[in-house]
Amino acid sequence: MHTEIIAVGTEILLGQIVNTNTTFVAHRLADMGIDVYYQTVVGDNQQRLIQAIDIASKRNDLVILMGGLGPTKDDLTKQTVARFLGKDLVEDAAAMHKIIGYYAASKKEMTVNNRLQAQYIAGAVPLKNETGFAVGEYYQSEQGCDFLLLPGPPSELKPMFANIAQPLLYKKYHNDHLLFSRVLRFFGIGESILATKIEDLIDNQTNPTIAPYAKTSEVTLRLTASAINEEEAKKILDETEKNICDRVGEYMYGYGDNNTLVEVVVKKLLEANLSITAAESLTAGAFQAALGNVPGVSRIFPGGFVTYANSAKSGLLDIPTDIIQKNGVVSEETAKWMAQNSKKKMKTDIGISFTGVAGPDSLEGKEAGTVWIGLAFKDRPVKAKLYHFARQRSLVRERSVLTGLDWIRR
Ligand code: ATP
Ligand code: MG
Repeated sequence: MHTEIIAVGTEILLGQIVNTNTTFVAHRLADMGIDVYYQTVVGDNQQRLIQAIDIASKRNDLVILMGGLGPTKDDLTKQTVARFLGKDLVEDAAAMHKIIGYYAASKKEMTVNNRLQAQYIAGAVPLKNETGFAVGEYYQSEQGCDFLLLPGPPSELKPMFANIAQPLLYKKYHNDHLLFSRVLRFFGIGESILATKIEDLIDNQTNPTIAPYAKTSEVTLRLTASAINEEEAKKILDETEKNICDRVGEYMYGYGDNNTLVEVVVKKLLEANLSITAAESLTAGAFQAALGNVPGVSRIFPGGFVTYANSAKSGLLDIPTDIIQKNGVVSEETAKWMAQNSKKKMKTDIGISFTGVAGPDSLEGKEAGTVWIGLAFKDRPVKAKLYHFARQRSLVRERSVLTGLDWIRR
């Protein structure tokens, strides 16, 4: 299964736009186990495009062309592929209907060229464009090379590829198997440590494949299984998830592409009907702002405190000034008082506090990145934990918020 990706467009050749489409498609093909052998860029020129297609078709089973499906004169891709195959263009009624509707509604004049966007090569499967007008297409040859044509604008190419083309390709090249993904989310463990702990699983596992991705402070693992149906996929994915969790399960907090730590924590608190408040020094409200991002949080979050200066810590939270003076602002004692008194004042089940040195300068002889987080939970004795986030200022604050959330989750 050899594939070539051809990006069509003079702008790409001139360096005016970055060829992100090739990167996107190549990444997705790799995930599917389809080998990309060549990546080509060719300008909007029929003769050179024909040459590129001719060469590509001789050395591959699948050629993916991107761009040049639009209505303007320089858009030549499908006419050229049709000519190369000796086929006519035919019209996709649904796509035509959409274009006519658009021009009628916007009272613009439609040109002959606009019809072209609804045309595809006879014998191909037209691919619906959910975010634009030009149809894509998938042409399967009896013997020889298949062609996949995709529109150039990334906003059109991405959904068409991911939602329509990818399942078709997968089915063809994997004997009717389908792909099923599951994303596991981790916090509190770095990508390299996580990858090391499950290195043998990543290396030896072919179904599902395991791919780690790191964001600023979180790591996700995408498990992708190939299976005949969902039930079989679930079995495969469950087993691998269990193997992973045997090793690093304590750091896993959830599933899915968009399920952030704060969403998981708020959901838990809502389910347990536990209310929460916070007293924030170095994070200056960032923890509470994170809570505020989650719909429905008002049921368990009445409000809280931003106590940046000592005067606010004593003034708003009634912490005796000599406690702060004796122990320091960045101290176990101050963190505990902040947590305890915020909880008392807001009459919540949980009070959490953040006091630390965001940096870049040190404070009270404590290095930048030194952070105490306090937690008062119902009637239990209030606790505080010490952290060292050796990072730049913004990351120290972000890490503090996430670490506080993770503590509550546990
Ligand atoms: P349109 O209907 O907009 O003309 P098209 O299918 O004809 O779409 P092109 O004309 O080749 O596509 O490109 C349209 C726009 O899409 C380009 O101006 C560019 O912004 C973007 N684009 C095209 N090819 C790529 C690529 N390989 N990587 C990233 N963006 C691209
Ligand atoms: Mg165009």
